[in-house]
Amino acid sequence: MSDSDYRKRFRVTPGDRPKLEKIDPNARDGHTTKQEAQDEITHYAQRMRELQYLLHAENKRSLLIVLQGLDASGKDGTIRHVLGYMNPQGCHVRGFKQPTAIEAAHDFLWRAHKAAPATGEVTIFNRSHYEDVLVVRVHELVPKKKWLGRYEHINTFEALLAEHGTHVIKFFLHISPEEQLARFKKRLDDPTRWWKISEADYNERLYWKEYQHAYEDVFERCNSGDAPWYIIPANHKWFRNLAISRIVTETMESLQMSFPEPSVNIDDIRRKYHEIVEKKL
Ligand code: AMP
Ligand code: MG
Repeated sequence: MSDSDYRKRFRVTPGDRPKLEKIDPNARDGHTTKQEAQDEITHYAQRMRELQYLLHAENKRSLLIVLQGLDASGKDGTIRHVLGYMNPQGCHVRGFKQPTAIEAAHDFLWRAHKAAPATGEVTIFNRSHYEDVLVVRVHELVPKKKWLGRYEHINTFEALLAEHGTHVIKFFLHISPEEQLARFKKRLDDPTRWWKISEADYNERLYWKEYQHAYEDVFERCNSGDAPWYIIPANHKWFRNLAISRIVTETMESLQMSFPEPSVNIDDIRRKYHEIVEKKL
């Protein structure tokens, strides 16, 4: 296993404005195949499960994992393969689609804030409040003046979560246009995936450059120490799984959590237990 800290490797440096076209979506950090990386993926995924149990037991803080990326970048797959290792008790997934009438009648952060994790919980956002400075910006769904103000609102919101003990980590799943097209083809060839296809996938592809630009602005403007962005090379699904499970694990490891002190005297309880067993009560 390599020793390097993936949280440093894939983190967007605060203040930087990375150019996505300069970042290789095929990167594999020296790994060659899925088979070769499998032990490492399993190791981190299992450790992640233990740490989630500890987070739940400690009941002092929470974790919010934000997944963003273009269509077919692997958000659903990441949830299934990596975060599926977590115990569903204490773990929630929230998808963000076009706002419903009720959501649209509120401020843009309302639905995100409502879905934020409670203490002791892990929540995964499949898309997120960032859509309000991505799709909304690319298609000018609100005037520029309005979406421009949202970066600051997002930073304040994430700082508030941090103050409450919610650790926010944000992943951008970085794929190439060729890989996206290959995945669209797979969907077309497999009737069990037809339900996933939408006209929007093909329309949005025409705005590839605009989306890259909108994401680059997000990385520059909303990347505080409290809520870091990671750009994950995601053309290889197994490498994406490895990188994300490592970063989630390393983040939870860094919290130095501990089990709470028992609320009872364990020696007394043990004595009671043996009494019951001996007397067959
Ligand atoms: P999917 O991720 O395939 O389920 O698609 C969800 C769709 O909802 C995507 O096309 C998103 O861009 C869109 N969406 C999510 N949030 C918003 C928003 N705030 N305003 C408009 N469209 C949104
Ligand atoms: Mg889609």
